[in-house]
Amino acid sequence: MKNSKKQIAMKRMEILFNNALSNAKNNPGLAQRQAEIAKKISLKFKIKMSFEINSSFCKKCKKFIPPGIASRIRLGSKPKAIRITCLYCNHTYRKIISQQ
Ligand SMILES: [Zn+2]
Repeated sequence: MKNSKKQIAMKRMEILFNNALSNAKNNPGLAQRQAEIAKKISLKFKIKMSFEINSSFCKKCKKFIPPGIASRIRLGSKPKAIRITCLYCNHTYRKIISQQ
């Protein structure tokens, strides 16, 4: 079944992403690779990345930017919006936290 394949892919993506997060401090190179694979899986299987995963990638340089390690996160002026600054390319973008 197509759906179960997608579910397995989603699990793999989440596991990879979580591994990337836990490796981010001690092994940034490995974390970067794991995050890239997680992203590839989401593209291949057309899985919508969760907010947590999506916001951990820079919109400009596309790198994995684990919160507090490779990115700075600040609350925006308006409620329900955050500002994320990528420490690799310094790109700042605002993310509106919408309820879906
Ligand atoms: Zn960047």
